[in-house]
Amino acid sequence: MALQFEIMPVTPFRQNCCLIWDDENKEAVLTDVGGDTAHVLQAVAERGLHLKEIWLTHGHLDHAGGVPELRKTQTVPVLGPHADDEYLLQSLPEVTASYAAYGFPVSPAFAPERWLHEGDRLSVGAYRFDVLHISGHTPGHVVFYCEQAELLVAGDVLFYESIGRTDFPRGNHADLISNIAAKLLVLPAHTRVIPGHGRMTTIGHEKQHNPFL
Ligand SMILES: [Zn+2]
Ligand SMILES: [Zn+2]
Repeated sequence: MALQFEIMPVTPFRQNCCLIWDDENKEAVLTDVGGDTAHVLQAVAERGLHLKEIWLTHGHLDHAGGVPELRKTQTVPVLGPHADDEYLLQSLPEVTASYAAYGFPVSPAFAPERWLHEGDRLSVGAYRFDVLHISGHTPGHVVFYCEQAELLVAGDVLFYESIGRTDFPRGNHADLISNIAAKLLVLPAHTRVIPGHGRMTTIGHEKQHNPFL
């Protein structure tokens, strides 16, 4: 029995959409369905998984923009991000229109079935994930931490030897640094980190080698 995952880079920004499932009962979730929804739903079907929920870390288009397309064929609930990112989900039509040159389809605005908060507990099969609210890259950014599987879905908070951008209108560099220090660097060193873009890392590696921390 084990928690499994598959990282599927989606959208022109190669955002790490992640399929996470419990081998035992085939229950699955998708995180950050930014686009390429036919491809990620095919991965769910090929493995014979039961898609339970969609989890969003934050409201940027490459992480959330695929939800309206996905809802055309799926009725699974969308959870997250924190409500402080509502303005981003509401602005998706303008944002996606301005990024059309990059190859993003125009996305309508949407709201999730449920906003998430610090301390919320989610699950995939027998595995529990804690929701941590890490503002800074966006005000409503959340991450998903599974202590049992030693796995962190970090969105655009923490990358391999880097951190998220904070030069957007409501970004806050000091908040991002203090949240990472208080909530992520305290996790066990061998915790595996799935970032929103690029290769995986661990908390221990970032503690030692991340020049921003
Ligand atoms: Zn982002
Ligand atoms: Zn991103």
